[in-house]
Amino acid sequence: MADQGLPPAGRFVGDALVNLFQDRIKQLIADLGREVTYVLTPQQVDCPNCGFDFVNNRSNNVHTPNASGASFNKSFTTGQRCPVCQGRGKLEFSRSVTHKSLVGFQPAPEEFNYTEYGLTPDQVLRTKNALAVLPDIEVAQYAIIDGFECEKITIPRKTGLRDLAFLVTYWKRRNT
Ligand SMILES: [Zn+2]
Repeated sequence: MADQGLPPAGRFVGDALVNLFQDRIKQLIADLGREVTYVLTPQQVDCPNCGFDFVNNRSNNVHTPNASGASFNKSFTTGQRCPVCQGRGKLEFSRSVTHKSLVGFQPAPEEFNYTEYGLTPDQVLRTKNALAVLPDIEVAQYAIIDGFECEKITIPRKTGLRDLAFLVTYWKRRNT
C-alpha cells in the first residue's frame, strides 16, 4: 500500500473501543428508544379474483375462480368490474413495522440545515437506529413518532465510530 503519511491504524481507536461504542449506543437505543412505527410502501399483489390486462394495466374483467377464501373469490359477470380489486387488477396491503428508535427533537442547527429545507426546529425530528433496520427505513413512507405522523425528509445516513453501525434519519411533522 502506498505511504499515506499515517501511523499504523488501530493504536488509538482499536476494535475493543469500537465494539464498546457500538454496544453502548445499541444499549441506549434499547433503554431510551421510543417505539416508532414506520409505515412502509404498500405491498402490491395480483388480484386472485380476476386476470390482468397487461396492455391497459388493469383487470381484464374476467373472473378467475380461486381458493383464496370467500372475500377474495367473488364471482362476477365477464366484462363487469371485479368486486375484489374494483377493476384495478392488483390489491395493495399496507405494511408497517415498529422499531425502537432514539428520537431527537429540534436537532441543532450545526447538525441540520434548516434553511436548505425551509423548516423550523420545532418541525424536525431525528431518529437513530441500528443499521439492521436500513431496509425498513429506506422504504418507509412516513413514521409515527409519539402519535405524530412524520414525513421522511432525508435518506438514512450511516454513522458510527469507524464502522458504520447506525442510521440517522430526519423527519418532518405533518400539519405543523
Ligand atoms: Zn380483481
